[in-house]
Amino acid sequence: MNCYICKAPTDHYFRKRFDRFGLDSVNYRRCIACGTVYAETLLQLPEERWRGVCEAYHNSYRGSGENPDDPNWRVRLNQQAELLLRLAENGLLNRAGPWLDHGCGEGELAAMLAERIGKISCYDRYWKGDGYLQEAELIPRHYSLVISTSTLEHLRSRSSLDAITGLIAEDGSLALHTLVRGEIPRDPAWFYLLPVHTIFYTNKGMAKLFDQWGFHSSIYAVDARLWIGYRKPLAEVLKQKPQMLASPGLHASEGFLAYWP
Ligand SMILES: [Zn+2]
Repeated sequence: MNCYICKAPTDHYFRKRFDRFGLDSVNYRRCIACGTVYAETLLQLPEERWRGVCEAYHNSYRGSGENPDDPNWRVRLNQQAELLLRLAENGLLNRAGPWLDHGCGEGELAAMLAERIGKISCYDRYWKGDGYLQEAELIPRHYSLVISTSTLEHLRSRSSLDAITGLIAEDGSLALHTLVRGEIPRDPAWFYLLPVHTIFYTNKGMAKLFDQWGFHSSIYAVDARLWIGYRKPLAEVLKQKPQMLASPGLHASEGFLAYWP
């Protein structure tokens, strides 16, 4: 297979055995150019089987209020809500158009935001809640902010990546939480190799994606583990509130902000 991001060939990287959710051995491949790692076996599963793996995995903890594979989940959601509110209050996120939480799960983050700044649209492919949008109701290039937390690592095609960012208005932003690091470890015991994780992003790969999607600058909040991608250069983003950058744990750069080694 070729890399979804830079189209370069991939090499075999390692295999991992799962004895859960009907999976046995999963093959991982790594892009020779940008280092992005792909769970090839999961990408090749027929859609019905893949849906079964996702539902079995997510139903194993949903409703409990906890995810054993992500114990910091609720604390991080609070930090993400606080950050988004603070950026909106300071004019670093546009509230002129609607916000969408894409892949919102049970809608916890949207509910936290709604309490403070009004309704957030919700969509989830695998979870249907009250008032959630259907896929056909999503409007391309419409949303001032698309929030994507813990979703990009579950996707199986380049077109599904582009479908998310394609919903963002011309001057809109992306709020992104997924794992991005300098190198993906060649280690079948690595904690992040879950049965539902398909793509493992590197700084180099994500920088290329940001460029392809037209995000010219970004900020990263370390505690919330959240990137905001902007369509404008950094100087323009920060011109009203340059002091925001003095906030501890907030980093900014042109293009994609590479934080993790
Ligand atoms: Zn690549």
